[in-house]
Amino acid sequence: MSERLRARVEARAGELVALCRALVQIPSENPPGRDYLPVCELVGERLRKRGFEVHYLRAEGALADSDVFPRWNMVARFESGRPGPTVHFNSHVDVVAPGERWSFDPYGAELVDGRIYGRGTCDMKGGLASSVAAVEALLDEGLVRTGAVEVSATADEESGGYAGVAWLAERGWFDPNRVDHVVIPEPFNRDLVCLGHRGVWWAEIETLGHIAHGSMPFQGDCAVRHMAAVIEAFERELWPLLAARRTAVPVIPEGARHATCNLAAIHGGLPERLDGLPTPLVPDRCRLTVDRRYLTEESREAVAQEVENLLERLRADREGFDYRLRELMHVPPTANVETAPTPRAFARAILEVEGKEARFVASPGTYDQKHVHHLGGVTDCVAYGPGHLHLAHQPDEYVEVRDLANAAAVMALATHDLLGGAS
Ligand SMILES: [Zn+2]
Repeated sequence: MSERLRARVEARAGELVALCRALVQIPSENPPGRDYLPVCELVGERLRKRGFEVHYLRAEGALADSDVFPRWNMVARFESGRPGPTVHFNSHVDVVAPGERWSFDPYGAELVDGRIYGRGTCDMKGGLASSVAAVEALLDEGLVRTGAVEVSATADEESGGYAGVAWLAERGWFDPNRVDHVVIPEPFNRDLVCLGHRGVWWAEIETLGHIAHGSMPFQGDCAVRHMAAVIEAFERELWPLLAARRTAVPVIPEGARHATCNLAAIHGGLPERLDGLPTPLVPDRCRLTVDRRYLTEESREAVAQEVENLLERLRADREGFDYRLRELMHVPPTANVETAPTPRAFARAILEVEGKEARFVASPGTYDQKHVHHLGGVTDCVAYGPGHLHLAHQPDEYVEVRDLANAAAVMALATHDLLGGAS
Protein backbone atom coordinates (compact mmCIF):
# COMPACT_ATOMS: atom_id res chain seq x y z
CA MET A 1 0.00 0.00 0.00
CA SER A 2 2.71 2.48 0.91
CA GLU A 3 4.35 1.94 -2.50
CA ARG A 4 1.13 2.88 -4.30
CA LEU A 5 0.58 5.84 -2.03
CA ARG A 6 4.11 7.10 -2.64
CA ALA A 7 3.70 6.64 -6.37
CA ARG A 8 0.46 8.62 -6.21
CA VAL A 9 2.18 11.51 -4.41
CA GLU A 10 5.01 11.38 -6.96
CA ALA A 11 2.52 11.53 -9.83
CA ARG A 12 1.09 14.69 -8.26
CA ALA A 13 4.47 16.47 -7.98
CA GLY A 14 3.71 18.83 -10.89
CA GLU A 15 0.42 19.86 -9.31
CA LEU A 16 2.13 20.29 -5.96
CA VAL A 17 4.65 22.70 -7.50
CA ALA A 18 1.86 24.64 -9.21
CA LEU A 19 -0.07 24.96 -5.94
CA CYS A 20 3.01 26.11 -4.01
CA ARG A 21 3.77 28.74 -6.67
CA ALA A 22 0.18 30.00 -6.74
CA LEU A 23 0.21 30.38 -2.94
CA VAL A 24 3.53 32.25 -2.95
CA GLN A 25 2.27 34.61 -5.66
CA ILE A 26 -0.35 35.96 -3.23
CA PRO A 27 1.60 38.50 -1.13
CA SER A 28 -0.07 37.78 2.23
CA GLU A 29 2.33 39.97 4.19
CA ASN A 30 2.14 40.48 7.92
CA PRO A 31 2.30 43.24 8.96
CA PRO A 32 -0.15 44.53 7.92
CA GLY A 33 -1.92 41.19 7.34
CA ARG A 34 -3.08 41.50 3.73
CA ASP A 35 -4.62 38.99 1.31
CA TYR A 36 -5.42 36.28 3.84
CA LEU A 37 -8.80 35.51 2.26
CA PRO A 38 -7.46 34.74 -1.27
CA VAL A 39 -4.96 32.25 0.22
CA CYS A 40 -7.71 30.64 2.32
CA GLU A 41 -9.99 30.42 -0.73
CA LEU A 42 -7.33 28.97 -3.00
CA VAL A 43 -6.95 26.03 -0.62
CA GLY A 44 -10.55 25.89 0.62
CA GLU A 45 -12.25 25.82 -2.79
CA ARG A 46 -9.81 23.19 -4.00
CA LEU A 47 -10.60 20.94 -1.02
CA ARG A 48 -14.34 21.59 -1.29
CA LYS A 49 -14.24 19.93 -4.73
CA ARG A 50 -12.78 16.85 -3.02
CA GLY A 51 -15.67 16.58 -0.57
CA PHE A 52 -14.32 18.63 2.31
CA GLU A 53 -16.68 20.73 4.41
CA VAL A 54 -15.05 24.17 4.31
CA HIS A 55 -15.41 26.99 6.86
CA TYR A 56 -14.13 30.53 6.40
CA LEU A 57 -13.82 32.19 9.76
CA ARG A 58 -12.93 35.82 10.33
CA ALA A 59 -11.41 36.48 13.76
CA GLU A 60 -13.62 39.49 14.36
CA GLY A 61 -12.64 41.46 17.41
CA ALA A 62 -9.27 39.70 17.69
CA LEU A 63 -6.01 41.60 18.00
CA ALA A 64 -5.17 43.34 14.66
CA ASP A 65 -8.44 42.38 12.92
CA SER A 66 -9.94 45.29 10.99
CA ASP A 67 -12.20 45.87 7.97
CA VAL A 68 -9.14 46.95 5.97
CA PHE A 69 -7.06 43.95 7.04
CA PRO A 70 -9.55 41.25 8.10
CA ARG A 71 -8.04 38.20 9.81
CA TRP A 72 -9.48 35.29 7.81
CA ASN A 73 -8.92 31.63 8.65
CA MET A 74 -10.00 28.49 6.82
CA VAL A 75 -10.76 25.06 8.27
CA ALA A 76 -11.61 22.16 5.95
CA ARG A 77 -12.75 18.73 7.16
CA PHE A 78 -13.20 15.46 5.30
CA GLU A 79 -15.30 12.87 7.13
CA SER A 80 -14.86 9.23 6.26
CA GLY A 81 -18.25 8.49 7.83
CA ARG A 82 -16.75 5.86 10.13
CA PRO A 83 -15.50 6.44 13.67
CA GLY A 84 -11.79 7.07 14.12
CA PRO A 85 -9.24 9.71 14.91
CA THR A 86 -8.89 13.11 13.23
CA VAL A 87 -5.55 14.16 11.75
CA HIS A 88 -5.24 17.92 11.32
CA PHE A 89 -2.67 19.82 9.21
CA ASN A 90 -2.32 23.46 10.26
CA SER A 91 -0.40 26.04 8.24
CA HIS A 92 -0.13 29.77 8.75
CA VAL A 93 -0.70 31.81 5.58
CA ASP A 94 1.06 35.02 6.64
CA VAL A 95 4.60 35.80 5.50
CA VAL A 96 7.06 38.42 6.72
CA ALA A 97 8.08 41.37 4.50
CA PRO A 98 10.66 40.40 1.87
CA GLY A 99 13.26 43.03 2.87
CA GLU A 100 16.22 43.90 0.64
CA ARG A 101 18.92 41.99 -1.27
CA TRP A 102 16.72 39.65 -3.32
CA SER A 103 17.99 38.40 -6.67
CA PHE A 104 14.48 37.08 -7.52
CA ASP A 105 11.05 38.69 -7.41
CA PRO A 106 9.94 37.79 -3.85
CA TYR A 107 6.40 37.09 -5.10
CA GLY A 108 7.34 35.71 -8.51
CA ALA A 109 7.67 32.10 -7.28
CA GLU A 110 10.21 31.44 -10.04
CA LEU A 111 11.16 27.82 -10.61
CA VAL A 112 14.92 27.59 -11.20
CA ASP A 113 17.02 24.41 -11.07
CA GLY A 114 14.53 22.45 -8.99
CA ARG A 115 13.92 25.26 -6.51
CA ILE A 116 11.00 27.64 -6.08
CA TYR A 117 12.17 31.08 -4.95
CA GLY A 118 9.99 33.52 -3.07
CA ARG A 119 8.82 34.82 0.29
CA GLY A 120 6.95 32.07 2.10
CA THR A 121 8.22 29.18 -0.05
CA CYS A 122 9.84 27.63 2.99
CA ASP A 123 7.96 29.44 5.81
CA MET A 124 5.47 27.95 5.12
CA LYS A 125 3.39 27.86 1.95
CA GLY A 126 5.52 24.96 0.71
CA GLY A 127 4.40 23.01 3.78
CA LEU A 128 0.77 23.96 3.19
CA ALA A 129 1.02 22.77 -0.42
CA SER A 130 2.63 19.48 0.65
CA SER A 131 -0.11 18.81 3.19
CA VAL A 132 -2.81 19.41 0.56
CA ALA A 133 -1.02 17.07 -1.87
CA ALA A 134 -0.76 14.45 0.90
CA VAL A 135 -4.48 14.42 1.71
CA GLU A 136 -5.41 14.47 -1.98
CA ALA A 137 -3.21 11.43 -2.62
CA LEU A 138 -4.89 9.62 0.29
CA LEU A 139 -8.32 10.43 -1.18
CA ASP A 140 -7.22 9.33 -4.67
CA GLU A 141 -6.28 5.97 -3.18
CA GLY A 142 -9.48 5.78 -1.13
CA LEU A 143 -7.46 5.60 2.07
CA VAL A 144 -9.48 7.89 4.35
CA ARG A 145 -11.83 5.10 5.47
CA THR A 146 -11.95 5.80 9.18
CA GLY A 147 -11.90 9.05 11.13
CA ALA A 148 -11.34 12.37 9.42
CA VAL A 149 -8.66 14.61 7.99
CA GLU A 150 -8.56 18.37 8.34
CA VAL A 151 -6.52 21.12 6.72
CA SER A 152 -6.46 24.64 8.13
CA ALA A 153 -4.94 27.87 6.81
CA THR A 154 -4.59 30.42 9.59
CA ALA A 155 -3.67 34.03 10.27
CA ASP A 156 -0.94 35.93 12.04
CA GLU A 157 1.48 33.23 13.21
CA GLU A 158 4.33 35.65 12.62
CA SER A 159 2.79 38.07 15.12
CA GLY A 160 1.73 35.54 17.76
CA GLY A 161 -1.22 33.74 16.17
CA TYR A 162 -3.84 35.51 18.30
CA ALA A 163 -6.25 36.02 15.37
CA GLY A 164 -5.34 32.59 13.97
CA VAL A 165 -4.79 29.35 15.85
CA ALA A 166 -5.38 30.97 19.27
CA TRP A 167 -8.73 32.37 18.15
CA LEU A 168 -9.79 29.01 16.66
CA ALA A 169 -8.57 27.07 19.71
CA GLU A 170 -10.62 29.31 22.02
CA ARG A 171 -13.69 28.43 19.93
CA GLY A 172 -13.24 24.69 20.05
CA TRP A 173 -11.68 24.04 16.66
CA PHE A 174 -8.67 22.34 18.29
CA ASP A 175 -10.67 20.58 21.01
CA PRO A 176 -9.52 16.98 21.75
CA ASN A 177 -13.15 15.95 21.13
CA ARG A 178 -12.77 16.74 17.44
CA VAL A 179 -8.99 16.70 16.78
CA ASP A 180 -6.55 13.98 17.89
CA HIS A 181 -3.30 14.62 16.04
CA VAL A 182 -1.98 17.96 14.77
CA VAL A 183 0.83 18.47 12.27
CA ILE A 184 2.24 21.94 11.64
CA PRO A 185 4.24 21.88 8.36
CA GLU A 186 6.85 24.46 9.41
CA PRO A 187 10.22 23.90 7.66
CA PHE A 188 12.14 21.12 9.43
CA ASN A 189 13.74 19.60 6.41
CA ARG A 190 13.72 16.49 5.89
CA ASP A 191 14.56 14.11 8.69
CA LEU A 192 13.66 16.37 11.64
CA VAL A 193 10.48 16.11 13.68
CA CYS A 194 9.98 19.07 15.99
CA LEU A 195 8.34 18.23 19.33
CA GLY A 196 7.94 21.73 20.74
CA HIS A 197 9.70 24.91 21.75
CA ARG A 198 11.28 26.90 24.59
CA GLY A 199 9.31 29.34 26.73
CA VAL A 200 9.20 33.10 26.20
CA TRP A 201 9.19 35.84 28.83
CA TRP A 202 9.14 39.42 27.54
CA ALA A 203 9.43 42.19 30.06
CA GLU A 204 9.98 45.92 30.20
CA ILE A 205 12.31 47.44 32.75
CA GLU A 206 11.98 51.14 33.34
CA THR A 207 14.50 53.14 35.34
CA LEU A 208 13.33 56.36 36.91
CA GLY A 209 15.37 59.53 37.40
CA HIS A 210 14.82 63.22 37.88
CA ILE A 211 14.64 65.78 35.08
CA ALA A 212 17.02 68.79 35.08
CA HIS A 213 18.87 71.13 32.70
CA GLY A 214 21.47 69.29 30.65
CA SER A 215 24.12 71.87 31.53
CA MET A 216 23.69 71.06 35.23
CA PRO A 217 23.21 67.28 35.36
CA PHE A 218 24.17 67.27 39.05
CA GLN A 219 20.79 68.87 39.74
CA GLY A 220 18.98 65.88 38.21
CA ASP A 221 19.27 62.11 38.24
CA CYS A 222 19.96 60.42 34.91
CA ALA A 223 17.67 57.44 34.13
CA VAL A 224 19.95 56.38 31.25
CA ARG A 225 22.92 56.02 33.62
CA HIS A 226 20.74 53.91 35.93
CA MET A 227 19.86 51.73 32.93
CA ALA A 228 23.57 51.40 32.12
CA ALA A 229 23.98 49.98 35.62
CA VAL A 230 21.18 47.48 34.90
CA ILE A 231 22.86 46.34 31.68
CA GLU A 232 26.21 46.11 33.44
CA ALA A 233 24.63 43.92 36.13
CA PHE A 234 23.08 41.72 33.39
CA GLU A 235 26.51 41.31 31.79
CA ARG A 236 28.23 40.54 35.05
CA GLU A 237 25.62 38.35 36.77
CA LEU A 238 22.83 37.19 34.44
CA TRP A 239 24.65 36.10 31.29
CA PRO A 240 27.06 33.71 33.09
CA LEU A 241 24.11 32.17 34.95
CA LEU A 242 22.14 31.60 31.73
CA ALA A 243 25.14 30.19 29.87
CA ALA A 244 25.61 27.65 32.67
CA ARG A 245 22.04 26.30 32.28
CA ARG A 246 21.48 23.61 29.69
CA THR A 247 18.28 21.77 28.80
CA ALA A 248 17.88 18.04 28.29
CA VAL A 249 15.39 18.86 25.48
CA PRO A 250 17.03 18.49 22.00
CA VAL A 251 16.71 22.15 20.98
CA ILE A 252 18.45 23.13 17.74
CA PRO A 253 20.71 24.94 17.05
CA GLU A 254 23.01 23.87 19.86
CA GLY A 255 23.41 27.43 21.24
CA ALA A 256 19.69 27.52 22.03
CA ARG A 257 20.06 24.56 24.39
CA HIS A 258 21.07 27.18 26.95
CA ALA A 259 18.78 29.77 28.48
CA THR A 260 19.14 33.02 26.52
CA CYS A 261 18.28 36.68 26.90
CA ASN A 262 18.18 39.36 24.23
CA LEU A 263 18.03 43.08 24.97
CA ALA A 264 15.52 43.87 22.24
CA ALA A 265 15.04 47.63 22.53
CA ILE A 266 16.09 50.61 24.60
CA HIS A 267 14.48 54.04 24.77
CA GLY A 268 15.77 56.84 26.94
CA GLY A 269 15.48 60.60 27.15
CA LEU A 270 13.46 62.96 25.03
CA PRO A 271 13.23 62.70 21.23
CA GLU A 272 15.73 64.65 19.14
CA ARG A 273 14.49 67.94 17.69
CA LEU A 274 13.72 68.27 13.97
CA ASP A 275 17.26 69.60 13.36
CA GLY A 276 18.64 66.40 14.90
CA LEU A 277 20.13 68.13 17.93
CA PRO A 278 19.48 66.63 21.37
CA THR A 279 17.31 68.31 23.96
CA PRO A 280 19.42 69.71 26.82
CA LEU A 281 17.66 67.72 29.52
CA VAL A 282 18.66 65.05 31.99
CA PRO A 283 16.39 62.09 31.10
CA ASP A 284 14.06 61.01 33.87
CA ARG A 285 12.95 57.74 32.24
CA CYS A 286 14.61 54.92 30.33
CA ARG A 287 12.94 51.73 29.16
CA LEU A 288 14.55 48.42 28.21
CA THR A 289 12.72 45.52 26.53
CA VAL A 290 14.03 42.12 27.55
CA ASP A 291 13.38 38.98 25.45
CA ARG A 292 14.17 36.04 27.72
CA ARG A 293 13.83 32.51 26.29
CA TYR A 294 13.57 29.89 28.99
CA LEU A 295 14.03 26.16 29.27
CA THR A 296 11.58 23.43 30.28
CA GLU A 297 13.70 23.05 33.43
CA GLU A 298 13.04 26.69 34.42
CA SER A 299 9.77 28.35 35.46
CA ARG A 300 8.14 31.68 34.63
CA GLU A 301 8.23 32.62 38.32
CA ALA A 302 11.95 31.85 38.67
CA VAL A 303 12.76 33.73 35.46
CA ALA A 304 10.93 36.85 36.65
CA GLN A 305 12.31 36.53 40.19
CA GLU A 306 15.88 36.35 38.92
CA VAL A 307 15.53 39.71 37.15
CA GLU A 308 13.67 41.25 40.06
CA ASN A 309 16.39 40.15 42.52
CA LEU A 310 19.02 41.76 40.36
CA LEU A 311 17.06 45.03 40.25
CA GLU A 312 16.44 44.92 44.00
CA ARG A 313 20.18 44.54 44.65
CA LEU A 314 20.75 47.65 42.53
CA ARG A 315 18.10 49.48 44.51
CA ALA A 316 19.92 48.60 47.72
CA ASP A 317 23.42 49.38 46.44
CA ARG A 318 23.04 52.29 44.05
CA GLU A 319 22.05 55.75 45.18
CA GLY A 320 18.79 57.05 43.72
CA PHE A 321 18.06 53.82 41.84
CA ASP A 322 14.38 53.13 41.27
CA TYR A 323 12.65 50.96 38.68
CA ARG A 324 9.45 49.43 37.39
CA LEU A 325 9.29 45.90 36.03
CA ARG A 326 6.39 44.84 33.81
CA GLU A 327 5.76 41.51 32.07
CA LEU A 328 4.78 42.09 28.42
CA MET A 329 4.19 38.54 27.21
CA HIS A 330 4.54 34.98 28.40
CA VAL A 331 4.47 31.66 26.54
CA PRO A 332 5.21 28.48 28.49
CA PRO A 333 7.53 25.87 26.98
CA THR A 334 5.60 23.31 24.94
CA ALA A 335 6.65 19.79 24.11
CA ASN A 336 5.19 16.55 22.86
CA VAL A 337 6.86 13.25 23.82
CA GLU A 338 8.77 11.07 21.35
CA THR A 339 6.57 8.10 22.20
CA ALA A 340 3.27 9.82 21.27
CA PRO A 341 1.45 8.54 18.15
CA THR A 342 2.28 11.45 15.81
CA PRO A 343 6.07 11.58 16.43
CA ARG A 344 6.19 7.80 16.03
CA ALA A 345 4.12 7.82 12.82
CA PHE A 346 6.35 10.52 11.32
CA ALA A 347 9.54 8.72 12.36
CA ARG A 348 8.32 5.55 10.61
CA ALA A 349 7.30 7.46 7.48
CA ILE A 350 10.61 9.36 7.32
CA LEU A 351 12.52 6.09 7.60
CA GLU A 352 10.50 4.71 4.71
CA VAL A 353 10.70 7.75 2.41
CA GLU A 354 14.14 9.14 3.26
CA GLY A 355 15.82 5.89 4.24
CA LYS A 356 17.17 7.34 7.47
CA GLU A 357 16.28 7.66 11.13
CA ALA A 358 14.27 10.74 12.06
CA ARG A 359 15.77 13.12 14.59
CA PHE A 360 13.52 14.60 17.26
CA VAL A 361 14.27 18.25 17.91
CA ALA A 362 12.78 21.31 19.60
CA SER A 363 12.65 24.89 18.36
CA PRO A 364 14.42 27.87 19.96
CA GLY A 365 11.42 30.12 19.18
CA THR A 366 7.70 29.53 19.52
CA TYR A 367 5.12 28.81 16.84
CA ASP A 368 1.42 27.92 16.84
CA GLN A 369 1.92 24.63 18.71
CA LYS A 370 1.63 26.69 21.92
CA HIS A 371 -2.03 27.48 21.16
CA VAL A 372 -2.86 23.95 19.97
CA HIS A 373 -1.47 22.62 23.25
CA HIS A 374 -2.28 25.23 25.90
CA LEU A 375 -5.56 26.67 24.55
CA GLY A 376 -6.86 23.74 22.50
CA GLY A 377 -5.68 20.98 24.82
CA VAL A 378 -4.31 18.78 22.01
CA THR A 379 -0.89 17.55 23.13
CA ASP A 380 -0.09 15.14 20.28
CA CYS A 381 1.33 17.76 17.93
CA VAL A 382 4.52 17.99 15.88
CA ALA A 383 6.06 20.39 13.39
CA TYR A 384 7.29 18.71 10.23
CA GLY A 385 7.56 20.16 6.74
CA PRO A 386 9.72 20.87 3.70
CA GLY A 387 12.38 23.57 3.54
CA HIS A 388 15.40 24.64 5.55
CA LEU A 389 14.60 26.57 8.72
CA HIS A 390 17.65 28.82 8.28
CA LEU A 391 16.15 30.18 5.00
CA ALA A 392 13.00 31.42 6.74
CA HIS A 393 12.70 35.23 6.71
CA GLN A 394 15.89 35.51 4.57
CA PRO A 395 16.38 37.08 1.10
CA ASP A 396 16.22 34.49 -1.73
CA GLU A 397 14.14 32.13 0.43
CA TYR A 398 13.45 28.94 -1.51
CA VAL A 399 12.08 25.43 -1.24
CA GLU A 400 13.32 22.46 -3.23
CA VAL A 401 10.78 20.63 -5.36
CA ARG A 402 12.24 17.32 -4.16
CA ASP A 403 11.65 18.36 -0.55
CA LEU A 404 8.04 19.34 -1.27
CA ALA A 405 7.35 15.94 -2.83
CA ASN A 406 9.16 13.94 -0.16
CA ALA A 407 7.45 15.84 2.64
CA ALA A 408 4.07 15.17 1.00
CA ALA A 409 4.91 11.45 0.83
CA VAL A 410 5.91 11.41 4.52
CA MET A 411 2.71 13.27 5.47
CA ALA A 412 0.55 10.87 3.45
CA LEU A 413 2.16 7.74 4.96
CA ALA A 414 2.05 9.11 8.51
CA THR A 415 -1.62 10.15 8.15
CA HIS A 416 -2.54 6.73 6.82
CA ASP A 417 -0.76 5.23 9.81
CA LEU A 418 -2.52 7.54 12.30
CA LEU A 419 -5.92 6.82 10.79
CA GLY A 420 -5.41 3.17 11.56
CA GLY A 421 -3.60 2.07 8.43
CA ALA A 422 -6.56 0.08 7.08
CA SER A 423 -5.92 -0.76 3.44
ZN1 LIG B 1 6.38 29.81 10.00
